[in-house]
Amino acid sequence: MPFKVEITSSGHAFQVENGESVLDAALRQGLALPYGCRNGVCRSCKGKIVHGDVRYPSGTPKALTPLDLAQGFALFCQARPQSDMRIDVEEISGAGDIVVRMLPCRVAAKRQLAHDVMQLQLKLPQSERLQFLAGQYVDIVMRDGRRRAFSLANPPHDDEHLELQIRHVPGGTFSGYVFQSLKEKSLLRLRGPLGSFYLRKKDKLPVILMAGGTGFAPIKSIIEDALNEGYPQPMHLYWGVRSRRDLYLHETASRWADKHQNLHYVPVLSEPLPEDGWNGRTGFVHEAVLEDFPDLSGFGVYMSGPPVMVSSGRDTFAARGLDPLHMHSDSFEHAYATGHDNS
Ligand SMILES: Cc1cc2nc3c(=O)[nH]c(=O)nc-3n(C[C@H](O)[C@H](O)[C@H](O)COP(=O)(O)OP(=O)(O)OC[C@H]3O[C@@H](n4cnc5c(N)ncnc54)[C@H](O)[C@@H]3O)c2cc1C
Repeated sequence: MPFKVEITSSGHAFQVENGESVLDAALRQGLALPYGCRNGVCRSCKGKIVHGDVRYPSGTPKALTPLDLAQGFALFCQARPQSDMRIDVEEISGAGDIVVRMLPCRVAAKRQLAHDVMQLQLKLPQSERLQFLAGQYVDIVMRDGRRRAFSLANPPHDDEHLELQIRHVPGGTFSGYVFQSLKEKSLLRLRGPLGSFYLRKKDKLPVILMAGGTGFAPIKSIIEDALNEGYPQPMHLYWGVRSRRDLYLHETASRWADKHQNLHYVPVLSEPLPEDGWNGRTGFVHEAVLEDFPDLSGFGVYMSGPPVMVSSGRDTFAARGLDPLHMHSDSFEHAYATGHDNS
């Protein structure tokens, strides 16, 4: 029988299935409780039990001191409820609530998704997990200390591996290394999570998610997170690329739209090739949004990808009534523009 857990400060409540930890159940139901290692070691998930009982299947974690236990503290990544509960814990409400960390990681898999896009699956050390909000990015820190920003493409609930989608920039130091020399099992260093590009669920607005090229990566994370939680608002995904071969996860996006009535997917090609046989939308992706939505007041808009796409969207959407407070973007500036090249 599932138990009910209520968070005193917010009044949020969620169900914990038999054998499930308090943290896993909260994350599954879209409540962002803090965590770090998810192994009962780092104490990031520590919170107080106001009412109710828990058990620890592998024994009481050593990280909980006798004083912690006497004061009713628990480690929610390990604790399994034995009754309905009320707990005191700080919910993560924005990016600023998550500690930014530097972590080593291993390349668990490298797969070419398109002629110029490589997918990396990164594995953190056994005892570590990276807490992040869907849509955030990490800096890959190179040996000489210079940094390169890449968005996390996996959603937070599916965090065994961290997924990056890296476009090969002609002459690019890091992306060139990824395409030419990086081997599976290689070690990298990352710093994160970073950025404030995440879905403002509390706004409860229908949203337009506009991606250009590998700007699809953070939007994939946001959509998979939203679908996992059952985010009820309409979501309109526009993905702009040059030609058909650049829609490197077209089937994934089409599948989301087939399965979920509130997810609408519009791919837009700016330079379709004759062999594409394309009879879908063409032109610039922000123009496709403008054609479909004459009035953007009452929408949230999320844009990620090339700076020129983001700035075109910013200028033209504001003129269509989009509230600047509901306009969010990650402009994929390169390292020199963002200062990432100076460690
Ligand atoms: C918040 C954020 C998130 C990002 N997420 C992603 C992501 O998920 N996937 C992804 O592929 N990229 C992403 N980027 C862009 C990515 O960081 C850069 O393309 C990357 O730094 C390139 O590094 P490099 O060492 O290969 O190229 P560099 O050696 O730094 O550059 C080589 C040459 O290419 C030019 N150049 C480099 N990057 C770009 C670019 N993006 N556009 C145009 N010219 C460029 C430089 O001016 C230079 O002349 C993101 C950027 C930001 C700011």
